[in-house]
Amino acid sequence: MIYHSLIRSLFFGTLALILTACGPEDSTNNTAAAVDNNKIYNWKMVTAWPPGFPVLQEGAERFAKNIHAMSNGRLNIKVYAGGELIPALQTFDAVSQGTVEMGHGSAYYWAGKVPEAQFFSTVPFGMTARGMNAWLYHGGGLEIWREVYKPFHVIPFPIGNTGVQMGGWFNKEINSLADIKGLKMRIPGLGGKVFAKAGGNPVLLAGSEVYTALERNTIDATEWVGPFHDQRLGLYRAAKHYYYPGWHEPGSVLELTVNERAWNSLPADLQAIIKNAAMAENVQMFSEIEEKNLSALQELKDRPGIELHRFPDDVLAKLKMLTDEALAEEAANDPKFKHVYDAYQAFRKNDDAWSDVSEKAYLAIGK
Ligand code: CA
Repeated sequence: MIYHSLIRSLFFGTLALILTACGPEDSTNNTAAAVDNNKIYNWKMVTAWPPGFPVLQEGAERFAKNIHAMSNGRLNIKVYAGGELIPALQTFDAVSQGTVEMGHGSAYYWAGKVPEAQFFSTVPFGMTARGMNAWLYHGGGLEIWREVYKPFHVIPFPIGNTGVQMGGWFNKEINSLADIKGLKMRIPGLGGKVFAKAGGNPVLLAGSEVYTALERNTIDATEWVGPFHDQRLGLYRAAKHYYYPGWHEPGSVLELTVNERAWNSLPADLQAIIKNAAMAENVQMFSEIEEKNLSALQELKDRPGIELHRFPDDVLAKLKMLTDEALAEEAANDPKFKHVYDAYQAFRKNDDAWSDVSEKAYLAIGK
């Protein structure tokens, strides 16, 4: 009896701890449904990725499988790639409207609707995965992200990171700013705006069109992701100058979105499973892409004719200055953007000071 009551108190003690120690989304826990162990939830998740897209679509599917296992089959999530149920770039709206319960994408895809969402994926010369995780999980970033998505009835979670991307493939060398003038490059988002300010000509192209456009010289350059995804797309066959670093995407956060009403319909244990499975997948996806990139970089280096270059310092310095200008201009015109920009910049300033004496100082030690 003593043993049983000990187990009981341990169990309920732990449950109480789980319920009280969860993250910011638990402001919604007071509306969580009571636990009914027989109730089965069948959900749909739509993603912004092509079918079978390595790491990202695969990660979304692994996440669903993990949730199925952890919930003992009580929460089943059927995952649809972009276009299978909903066009890739309408996943946010589908989750917002409750057409589906979950989405997987990246916040900068919704920049047309929510410009300040970009800070929750990546901004040029912004924080890397390390800084973004610190900000989102412990520095107040996630709470602001939730506020930003609240009017859309969407609850966001970080669920992966691409790491520092590559600068892209160019059909000629970039030795100075003059070489960017008039250059036609596929580079989306804020990076594209900055590229235009530098005199370049940014072009918007879907992933499926990138290779052909570069190969036929419809464009002079393109960025994509990192060595692994770039190699799979065959970009090394279309241009030979491969530049680093990806100043425009220093660590793009991938997001899980959950419809608010669907979230509130779940008992607290299933909510805790989703939250922790997303956190686990954040580590999984980031680790997997880092490993695949380091292997693919070696393979690309071994391919004859490919030249790996670092962007010249003065080009990077100019692009950074133009990025600061672009962000400040947008903040001056849009109070919602400014609210997130101020929070991001405040955290980032301290993160820079810290990484100057930690990671950057350590990595600067000669080999
Ligand atoms: Ca990219």
